[in-house]
Amino acid sequence: MSQQFDVVVIGGGPAGYICAIRAAQLGMKTACIDAWQNAAGKPSLGGTCVNVGCIPSKALLESSEAWEKLHHEYQKHGISVEGANFDVAQMHKRKDDIVKNLTGGVLQLFKGNDIAFFHGTGKLNANNSIEFSGVDGSSETLEGKHIVVATGSKPVDIPVAPLDGNRIVDNEGALQFDEVPKTLGVIGGGVIGLELGSVWRRLGAEVTVIEAMDDFLFIADSQIQREAQRTFKKQGMDIKLGARVTGAKAGKKDVAVNFETKDGADHIRVEKLIVCVGRRPNTDGLVGTAELELDERGFVVVDGENRTNLPSVYAIGDVVRGPMLAHKGMEEGVKVAEIIAGKAGHVNYDTIPSVIYTWPEIAWVGKTEQQVKDEAIPYRVGAATFMANGRAKAMEAAQGTVKIIAHEETDEVLGVHIIGPNASELIQESVSVMEFQGSSEDIARTMHAHPTLSEVVHEASLAVDERPLHGLAKKRR
Ligand code: NAD
Repeated sequence: MSQQFDVVVIGGGPAGYICAIRAAQLGMKTACIDAWQNAAGKPSLGGTCVNVGCIPSKALLESSEAWEKLHHEYQKHGISVEGANFDVAQMHKRKDDIVKNLTGGVLQLFKGNDIAFFHGTGKLNANNSIEFSGVDGSSETLEGKHIVVATGSKPVDIPVAPLDGNRIVDNEGALQFDEVPKTLGVIGGGVIGLELGSVWRRLGAEVTVIEAMDDFLFIADSQIQREAQRTFKKQGMDIKLGARVTGAKAGKKDVAVNFETKDGADHIRVEKLIVCVGRRPNTDGLVGTAELELDERGFVVVDGENRTNLPSVYAIGDVVRGPMLAHKGMEEGVKVAEIIAGKAGHVNYDTIPSVIYTWPEIAWVGKTEQQVKDEAIPYRVGAATFMANGRAKAMEAAQGTVKIIAHEETDEVLGVHIIGPNASELIQESVSVMEFQGSSEDIARTMHAHPTLSEVVHEASLAVDERPLHGLAKKRR
C-alpha cells in the first residue's frame, strides 16, 4: 500500500521546507523527504544553507570579526584587553549549536504544520510515484498528486585539485578546520572563497586566492569590483587573477599548488587548500522510471511556473535555472505551493538581491552599469560614500559606497550596488523600491532616520539628480 499526499516535496533545504510549509498552510496534505543527518544519525533539516552553508559560515564570520575588532578597533574606543585569546573549538561549538537549533526548528515547524516528514531519499518513478528509502533501511512508496523536486546543489570538483578531506577540501571542510592554518589557498575568488577566506585570514591565516577570471568579482558592478579588490588586498589577501590551476598535490605537511597566469607558470605551497569554483545541480539518485528532462548541465528543465516536462511535477531552488541563492529558492517554494493551490504564485527574478558577507559587506540588486551600457539603456548614476556618514563614523565603519543606477528618462531604479557596513540589510530598501518599480526620486523624497547608515542610500539617490546634501552638488539650479 502506498501513502497518498496532495504534495510531496523531495528535499528539505530552504526551497523544499518552505514549499512544504506553504503547501500545508494552504490546506494540502503534505509530505517532505530529506536525507540529511547529523553526527548522531538524526534528521537535520535545512539543507546546505543551514547545515554547511549560509548559517555556519555566518557564525564563523561573526566570531572572526569579533576577534578582528578586538585588535583593530577596540583601542580606538578606549577599550584595551590584555591577554586576549581565542578558541577555535569554542567557535565551532557555537556554530554547531546554532545549526542544531535551526535544524530542530524546521522539524518543529513540520510538526506544527502537520507535514509528514520522511527521513531518507526519494526516487521519482513514473505516474507520480516516489520510491522512498529511509536512512534506517526501511522503504515504501509515496504518491503525490503534485510533486516538487528541491534537491539542491553540490560543490563542483575539479580533477586538477582532487579533494582529500584533509588538506584539500570544499566549503564544508573549510568550516571545520580544527586549527587556523598558517597558510591557506583558495581556488575560486567567488562568494564562498571570499567569505571563508575572510574567516581564516581574520584568525591569522595568510590567504592566497587563485581566480581564473581576469576581473575580480566579475559578476559585480565594476566600481564595486575595484573597491572590493583594493580593500581585500589592503586586508592582506593575496589575490591572483587570470590564474588557471594546473595541479594540486597534497603532501604530509602542505599542498603544492601549480597555476599559470599570463606571466607564465607559478606555484604556492599552503597548509590547506579550499576548492570553491561553483556548485552544480544535485539530481543524484533522483530519477527512477520517470522521464524527467534535465539540461546538458544537469539542471531540471522548468518553465516560468517551475513546471517540469512531467505533469504535476515541479522543481525549485538550486536544482533549476537562476542564481543558487537560498532566498530565491524560498520564494520559488512559496510560488509553487501557491500555484498548486490554484493561486497566482510569482517570483520577480529581476529583484533578487545578492550579498557577500565579507567586511565590508557587498550587496546589490538589479543591473550593473556594464549591463545597462551593453543593453544601450539610457541611464544616470548617483553615488555616495559612507565616509561622510555620522553613524558609520560612530561605528568605526566609515568605508564604502552606495551607487544607484536609474533610467535617464523615467528615473526608474535599475540597479543598486553597495559596499559598506551592513550592506546586507541596507540593500533591502532598494529591493522594495525596485519591486514597486520606484524611482530614485522616490528614495530621495522618502525620509530616512538620522543618524543611520541608510542615509547613504538617500544621499546616493539625491546624487542621481546631482543634488547631494553631504557632497558637493555638480551644478546650482
Ligand atoms: P561562485 O560562482 O560564486 O564563484 C566561483 C569562482 O570560481 C568564480 O569567480 C570562477 O571564476 C572561479 N573559478 C571557476 N573555476 C575555476 C578554476 N578552475 N580555477 C580558479 N577559479 C575558478 O561559486 P562559489 O563561491 O563556489 O559559491 C557557490 C554558490 O553558492 C554560488 O552560486 C553562490 O552564489 C552560492 N553562495 C552564496 C552565498 C551568499 O549568498 N552569500 C554564500 C556562499 C555561496
